[in-house]
Amino acid sequence: MTLAQCACGFAEDEAGDETISDHLFAVFAPEDDKGTDGRYHLEGEPDLTCVCGLTAATPGELDMHFLAVFTPNDAIGRDGKRHVTVTAVARNGGR
Ligand SMILES: [Zn+2]
Ligand SMILES: [Zn+2]
Repeated sequence: MTLAQCACGFAEDEAGDETISDHLFAVFAPEDDKGTDGRYHLEGEPDLTCVCGLTAATPGELDMHFLAVFTPNDAIGRDGKRHVTVTAVARNGGR
């Protein structure tokens, strides 16, 4: 189990109520679902597809896609703070 932390001070807790992905999504996702590439990204039909045409294999993959398109280059969130994942406790897993 790796608990991630955000540069803004947010940290995942053991309970996993809010993951770092949830947090980053919350600060970066625009209200109009428009990504940094100027296209719209929103889960469509069927499940695990994005309206941009992407098909994900898992919900996690779809989340990664959303984060990738919604995260600005400077990683500054809508609250004006910088949000980047800084892994706090990483287990040295042989990968
Ligand atoms: Zn998309
Ligand atoms: Zn943050």
